[in-house]
Amino acid sequence: TNININELLEQILKRLRPIADKQKVELVLESFRPVSADVDEVKITLAFTNLIENAIKYNKEDGWVHVSLNADHQYFYLKVEDSGIGIPEDSLGHIYERFYRVDKSHSREIGGTGLGLAITRNAVLMHRGAIKVFSTEGEGTIFNVRIPLNYIS
Ligand code: ATP
Ligand code: MG
Repeated sequence: TNININELLEQILKRLRPIADKQKVELVLESFRPVSADVDEVKITLAFTNLIENAIKYNKEDGWVHVSLNADHQYFYLKVEDSGIGIPEDSLGHIYERFYRVDKSHSREIGGTGLGLAITRNAVLMHRGAIKVFSTEGEGTIFNVRIPLNYIS
């Protein structure tokens, strides 16, 4: 079905804002244009919620999370950028594996199962989309997601 992605993101941010406030992380959404796309609403909501939740969870006090939405004639683009702890280079190849969590005492005390990114990646691939990560340890992480506007199964 055709889903308003701007609205979907606003709802996700509304739900995550109390968590961000508690962690003293600034959460910002920037929608560069109206986007509607043929997506599975439940799966895409889960996928995007996990990316934004991660960006909040693996952040620092007084950090920030910047979510942006853009589109062209073929795809929409979600960018989730954070000022957090980052992901070590030797872990980057494993983060989409089920139950994988970066083995650091700091991450260990944060709740989670290590399933979120596996679910996120599956949902993105199911929509014939793509996901890419860029990260610098101690500085932050960027997840870029691209999803076709018109999905034909
Ligand atoms: P779950 O999502 O199942 O509650 P989780 O958040 O630990 O648990 P994933 O979302 O799959 O699991 O993420 C896997 C691991 O990748 C995390 O445990 C964390 O170590 C690392 N990670 C994910 N996103 C970020 C991020 N934005 N910044 C730093 N590390 C991250
Ligand atoms: Mg997660």
